[in-house]
Parts: sequence; C-alpha cells; structure tokens
Amino acid sequence: MSDPSKRCLNCDDSFQSFLKPKDGALDFVVARVGSADSGKYWRCGHPGCRRVQNYFDYRDGFDLPPYL
Ligand SMILES: [Zn+2]
Repeated sequence: MSDPSKRCLNCDDSFQSFLKPKDGALDFVVARVGSADSGKYWRCGHPGCRRVQNYFDYRDGFDLPPYL
C-alpha cells in the first residue's frame, strides 16, 4: 500500500496524491472514526481540497472543517 495516488470525489473524481493527515487534521480524523481506524484515512494533497478518505475505499470519506 505504498501508492498514494487515489481517486478524489472532491477533485472531479480525478487521481490525486494522498497524504497521511497530521496535527489538527489527524486529531479530527481520530475524533471522527476512532484511533483504531484513523490510520486508514488519508488526506487529499490537492491544494484547497479538504477531503479525507479511506485508503482502501475512496467512496468512504468526509471533508475536514475549513480551519484545518
Ligand atoms: Zn481532492
């Protein structure tokens, strides 16, 4: 699972590089899905995109709040 390129529904369903969330974004993900599952959720690396989604299922995701 080293390929970070995944489809992003917020980016017109195009392929984007996803990154592991950090700092406040990681805290938000943990609060949302729990610490056990938080490692599966990666953040879209496209500038301005706030989507976080399951590494194994691009349809399973949510948006970070604007302050993150
Ligand atoms: Zn995106």
